[in-house]
Amino acid sequence: NADAALYQAKALGRGNYQFYSEEMNARTLDRLTLESGLRHAVERGELQLKYQPQIELASGHIVGAEALLRWYPAGQDLVMPDAFITIAEETGLIVPIGEWVLRTACAQQVAWRRAGLPALRMAVNLSARQFRQPGLDAMVARVLADTGCHADALELEITESVLMDRADAAAVTLQRLSDMGVQLAIDDFGTGYSSLSYLKRFPINALKIDRSFVSDISSDADDGAIAGAVIALAHSMGLTVVAEGVETRQQHDFLRQLNCDLAQGFYFSQPLPAAALEHILIDGEAKR
Ligand code: C2E
Ligand code: MG
Ligand code: MG
Ligand code: MG
Repeated sequence: NADAALYQAKALGRGNYQFYSEEMNARTLDRLTLESGLRHAVERGELQLKYQPQIELASGHIVGAEALLRWYPAGQDLVMPDAFITIAEETGLIVPIGEWVLRTACAQQVAWRRAGLPALRMAVNLSARQFRQPGLDAMVARVLADTGCHADALELEITESVLMDRADAAAVTLQRLSDMGVQLAIDDFGTGYSSLSYLKRFPINALKIDRSFVSDISSDADDGAIAGAVIALAHSMGLTVVAEGVETRQQHDFLRQLNCDLAQGFYFSQPLPAAALEHILIDGEAKR
């Protein structure tokens, strides 16, 4: 089915240029401007989500999407999350912003489902502050109920550091989310100091291999061996493996050979506005 995968990758490749150049031009604002602007970003409707497709390597089909936050301050260029998420965390603004992200992403998941498109699992990033916010599980339950999103169609991504720091409290929160049926993924796996055996303590469903391990996977024998070992061990623990930052055909082929389950990256698609991903899904349906 390599042809199907390549076909879909090619289809995805079309028309991405405009989004790419927009993101290349993203602005860096100074801290004060960021802080005061962010306070009103939600109510002014300046936040948007882009959706990066996640491809099932065995079939070449899009089976999920990761919601990625973008900020368009009035009259100015786009600001990327690396330029404002930390400040949003430090000021606590991440809490209302994060709830907006979750609600918007879940509503989008339901809109696609109701439009009869292939069911996508929606992945949403949670930062440390959001994860530790009292009542997180109740907030998630409320958003699922309000939007009609099924719990197992939502995957929450947290990083290893969230687990390493205050592990007991983290385990309780994760168990509550897991009991609701929400899927849980470790983002940027390999960049922290946890190990796969450590992760056994937590009800995790998926691992996302950080793109720093993916970049040299097909050229550096050590990186290839590490990825292969992580994938095999993760599978033996019943975890789904997602490769992040797949940019080349070589990386794609290599990961497929290693039985990596899912992949996302510029090789398949940039993060897209909802309407653009929707067109790809409709196109894909017509060709199935
Ligand atoms: P992440 O969750 O690890 O997301 C993956 C990042 O890699 C995204 O950057 C995505 O655009 C980028 N990416 C995807 N494919 C490729 C590729 O092939 N090559 C390269 N070089 N990069 C690729 P983005 O959108 O700038 O987001 C950066 C980080 O900001 C995210 O990393 C996540 O930690 C955080 N973030 C984004 N949206 C949210 C959000 O809604 N809430 C929270 N709490 N954090 C968010
Ligand atoms: Mg992520
Ligand atoms: Mg990541
Ligand atoms: Mg990251």
